[in-house]
Amino acid sequence: MVPQFPVFDLHGDLLSYLINKEGSTPMDSDIGCSIPFWKKGNVKLQVLSIFTTTNLGSVKKARHQAEKYKEILNVYSDHIYPMDSRNDLNSIIKTPGTAVMVAIENASGICEEEDHLDQAFFNLEQIIEQTGPLFYITITHHTENRFGGGNYSKVGLKPDGEILLEYLSGKKIAVDLSHTSDKMAFDLLNFIDQKQLDIPVIASHSNFRNIWDHPRNLPEELVREIIKRKGLMGMNFVRAFVDNDHHYTLQNHIRFGWANGLEDHLAFGADFFWTGSLNDPQRIPYFHPEHENAGKYPSIIDHLKVGEEEMEKLEKLCYLNVCKFIKSQIF
Ligand SMILES: [Zn+2]
Repeated sequence: MVPQFPVFDLHGDLLSYLINKEGSTPMDSDIGCSIPFWKKGNVKLQVLSIFTTTNLGSVKKARHQAEKYKEILNVYSDHIYPMDSRNDLNSIIKTPGTAVMVAIENASGICEEEDHLDQAFFNLEQIIEQTGPLFYITITHHTENRFGGGNYSKVGLKPDGEILLEYLSGKKIAVDLSHTSDKMAFDLLNFIDQKQLDIPVIASHSNFRNIWDHPRNLPEELVREIIKRKGLMGMNFVRAFVDNDHHYTLQNHIRFGWANGLEDHLAFGADFFWTGSLNDPQRIPYFHPEHENAGKYPSIIDHLKVGEEEMEKLEKLCYLNVCKFIKSQIF
């Protein structure tokens, strides 16, 4: 057994579960990212996404999740506490419970398709006021929205997306490539460079397309961009993005990252969401049993079978890379 390192996880969908399932709480076991699993898995920092699809009512749903976040911080203060610039690595590791912070998954949560664009900035500020610092924004989801193209589209960055990026410059909020089309990702990076915008870049919950060919995973060129920009890549546990048939391919994604210059950029972004409301026969089970909740972290880490000499890169993967990124680019 390797030492049980603390885990900093870049992506979990607890908040949308809480607003969508009646009577749900963060103590539940029907979502893989909840307080009991964090304890079992030694998860010491969890980024919680404010997730919406691109549909009417998305702004209201995002607001509801921000309120829910505030509420659970109050009610479950024995188990979770807000991550902010005052928390350093030592304090997070030593403090009982799990530090949490939020991210926005789909900018449709701050601005619907027909809203005036100014509304986006107002809503964004309101969310930040309520939740504290944002780790990142994933501008699109699977589909296209007013800002650009998502994973299952071929659309690139749109004029509203450019305005949003300009707004984000210097605000210490990362932009997330996990749900962009490839064209959108390249457009966005080119725009950042062209305008010399100050925006950190990550892929919060995506694997390698070289290992498992799926539009949710990053192609080699984008992986190189993450390295060049000193970003992060959070390894995703969803079966469809790991490998439909073999659970151990998750470890192969990680080993591929290590072998390709990502030792200082790899992290976890397990992406536990509520599967109870979904019913796609092709995708059931949504997670391999070996990765089905955050309590599985110790065995996932153990299965990497890392030798003494590789302990350092394991420690970086589990928490040190995220820690360094937060310190240098977010706070
Ligand atoms: Zn996602």
